[in-house]
Amino acid sequence: MSDNASQRFVADHVLGLPRSGIRDFFAIVAAMPDAISLGIGEPDFVTPWHIREAAIFALEKGKTSYTDNMGLIRLRREINTYVEKYFDLSYNPEKEILVAVGVSEALDIALRAVLNPGDKVMYHEPCYVSYSPSILLAHAQPIAVPTSAEDQFAIDPDRVEAAWEPGCKVLMLNFPTNPTGGVTERAKLERLARFAIEKDLLVLSDEIYSELTFEGEHTSIASLPGMKERTIFLHGFSKAFAMTGFRIGYACGPAPIIEAMMKVHQYSMLCAPILSQEAAIEALKNGRPAVEKMKEQYHRRRDLVVRRFNEAGLRCHSPKGSFYAFPSIEFSGLSSIDFCKGLLKEEEVAIVPGTAFGPSGAGYARASFSTSYERILEATDRIERFANKVRVDSRAGVGD
Ligand code: PMP
Repeated sequence: MSDNASQRFVADHVLGLPRSGIRDFFAIVAAMPDAISLGIGEPDFVTPWHIREAAIFALEKGKTSYTDNMGLIRLRREINTYVEKYFDLSYNPEKEILVAVGVSEALDIALRAVLNPGDKVMYHEPCYVSYSPSILLAHAQPIAVPTSAEDQFAIDPDRVEAAWEPGCKVLMLNFPTNPTGGVTERAKLERLARFAIEKDLLVLSDEIYSELTFEGEHTSIASLPGMKERTIFLHGFSKAFAMTGFRIGYACGPAPIIEAMMKVHQYSMLCAPILSQEAAIEALKNGRPAVEKMKEQYHRRRDLVVRRFNEAGLRCHSPKGSFYAFPSIEFSGLSSIDFCKGLLKEEEVAIVPGTAFGPSGAGYARASFSTSYERILEATDRIERFANKVRVDSRAGVGD
């Protein structure tokens, strides 16, 4: 049977999903050994040694079994201690905390646990590539609320209120944001919280970059008055602790919602890997000094990349968190895909077209600064050279 003929077995809603724009782009990059990639969405640091050691010790001790579906109770207790200390939140480790296979799984099971077919989910865009597909996979309807460079990609509560329609059940937030590095000040979060209460929305707050906040204090919407009972707080170890390969994250929220998520998790994943859970305990107990050191490096690189982009004529705000810069490529008159393809072909530098993160990313590109200072210097020199080649009258239109 030909591949095409077998397609008839694929579910309609899956067939209709776009492939991740990032994956396609990086298939090309993988075949170019000399390319400098500012494209990846993961730390360039290896997981701190003491955390790796905890996984090795656990393996040596023969810890090779399943765990409780909710995760090791020792880990859930550590999670509670951590969120109490850093987020001003407190959860019952027995029934309000679920350990998952990364924030990816936590997001997916949260959506599947709460959405009925046809429910609507609001989220700010540009955003992480999985949001819209995960909503569609849960048979719900995505409603994107654009953010813009004018306010440094912070969410605008007016726009959220204007985008609301009957049937909206969930509001998804991610600060600092992938791909823009946007954060949202407390006053705006308070307005969003009041709006969520007024419209009876459940909030999914993806806090995966929160430790990598360079300016100001990170506040979780879950910690605002009246919000804990209507928020699922999602967090993990991939970014701040440089633990992407461990595939470990968690969700905290009201017991009935965590119980519902646990059912989906139990029948699809069973539990997160035990070695990763042991490593996560060590990360929470003793990992913060290493996180602070990595953050210092990101901070230094951020200042470099933002300065170099602006010098090269790519207007770029200074991201207040995450390890992504989101420069404008509008000056070139090229679409973001054509700009990135041209840059890769002519200067062998990979950055991600802004449209990979939703239509409102048109005219932008994502450059990750999770690579060394020296390579960022070299990459931005090449980008400047390319920018000088393609520079056109800034009044020219942009297509995407
Ligand atoms: N949320 C955001 C905003 C992300 O950028 C990512 C990873 N790029 C994830 C969730 C998924 O992270 P994890 O490795 O914990 O599954």
